[in-house]
Amino acid sequence: MSVPTQRRTSSSRKRRASHFALKSKATVKCSNCGAVLLPHRACPKCGYFKGQKKIK
Ligand SMILES: [Zn+2]
Repeated sequence: MSVPTQRRTSSSRKRRASHFALKSKATVKCSNCGAVLLPHRACPKCGYFKGQKKIK
């Protein structure tokens, strides 16, 4: 197994960690009840998707 040859400096460690932040997920509002949902999914509260009741 390989072993690091040199110690990473604190700045190079921070430079790598600068890309670790999480992005906020895209959300849409339900056209029927206004609940916040993930896009392209039926509403878990009222079961509506594209204006039709898809979940009983
Ligand atoms: Zn809904």
